Amino acid sequence: MRTLFTRAKSVIPGGVNSPVRSFKSVSGEPFFTESAEGANLYTTDGKTLIDYVGTWGPAIHGHNCQEIRNALCEALGKGTSFGTPSPPEVAMAEKVVALVPSIEKVRMCNSGTEATMSAVRLARGYTGRDKIIKFAGCYHGHGDSLLVQAGSGALTLGKPNSAGVPESFASQTIVLPFNDFLAIDRVFSNHGNEIAGLIVEPYPANCGLMLPLPGYLEHLRKVTARYKTILIFDEVMTGFRVSLGGAQAIEGVIPDLTTLGKIIGGGLPVGALGGKAEIMDFLAPDGPVYQAGTLSGNPLAMVAGLASLDKLEKENPYCWLEEKTVLLRDGILQIAKEKGIALQVPTVPSMLCLYFAEEPVTSFERVFSSSLKTFSPLFHALLEEGIYWPPSPFETAFMSTAHDNDTISETLETFKKVFKKI
Ligand code: PLP
Repeated sequence: MRTLFTRAKSVIPGGVNSPVRSFKSVSGEPFFTESAEGANLYTTDGKTLIDYVGTWGPAIHGHNCQEIRNALCEALGKGTSFGTPSPPEVAMAEKVVALVPSIEKVRMCNSGTEATMSAVRLARGYTGRDKIIKFAGCYHGHGDSLLVQAGSGALTLGKPNSAGVPESFASQTIVLPFNDFLAIDRVFSNHGNEIAGLIVEPYPANCGLMLPLPGYLEHLRKVTARYKTILIFDEVMTGFRVSLGGAQAIEGVIPDLTTLGKIIGGGLPVGALGGKAEIMDFLAPDGPVYQAGTLSGNPLAMVAGLASLDKLEKENPYCWLEEKTVLLRDGILQIAKEKGIALQVPTVPSMLCLYFAEEPVTSFERVFSSSLKTFSPLFHALLEEGIYWPPSPFETAFMSTAHDNDTISETLETFKKVFKKI
């Protein structure tokens, strides 16, 4: 019998609908998921896995969350898409505006890629300038302007610059090293008045998890304000994941525009861009920057997202999530120490990554000087023992409220076993 992956490869490029799912950077074949519940995935070949990928971020309540399912069942009875405004879109916009400090108005779209692509266009349209700054290793989806020295799947496949992006597009994107204060100052003093926008993941999590040095995000805010460059925080991953107000609320740094995705769709396809009303009003139909979508603000995505946000507001699980993340981190570090393995485990609430390195990894260069080859055997040994860790050293692992103490103990027991083997 042909396996699902063999069938998939004959009709889907690479057998997957998003490259990082292919297991290319760890080699081997991906498994297929039959269903998911809480902290677990159930595979088509009958295995139960503890999942630290969480559908790449959205599943903060664990899989198959009852409140989201209930909201979807109720909405399904009313129809799946209307092509007219509908009440859940307004409720979603009100909720996002109330919770995210930088957002006065918000436009919904269908993916994080659409959100960042539109934010860049809006920054250009608003300022009348062309150049964009991004950081090496940050991933902002697969829009042409941003697929230059990108992280995530682009890094995993060793293709930080995609074929098909015209040189003329890429030349408008300036790529800088994250956490390098001088590099920013130098570029702004030479080109400040040409730079439309600076886009950054406030906690870059597509090359592992690189935390900003003290004062770095504030510095970006100060310099961009001085040159009237639009500061865009890409919070597609961190939005509603690290706190109700995202990384910006934790860091106290307020960008001009923010992009969102993942959690605000409760597991359905979604994206959003929001920010100062004066800038957002440059979007069509009131303004000259065109942005649109047949399924934008889709009623099912909106009710799923609202149910997810309502639950987060009601439970405010972030301290709890942080405690659990730290518990897992400390356990893994202790086991590594006992085995003499040099390991760094940076965390923010509900996110963590493993760098095999002696020193903290605070620059993109250091990501590459960490021992990347240790990752693949570790990944396979974990999977063999029932733990699904992200299939690339450049991806962050996600925890959910369904990862309880028992799940963490089981995970640590497994780490103990597999650190012996690698
Ligand atoms: N921005 C960030 C920070 C991301 O992590 C991602 C995806 O992982 C994106 C944008 C793109 O989002 P999507 O995959 O929904 O297009």
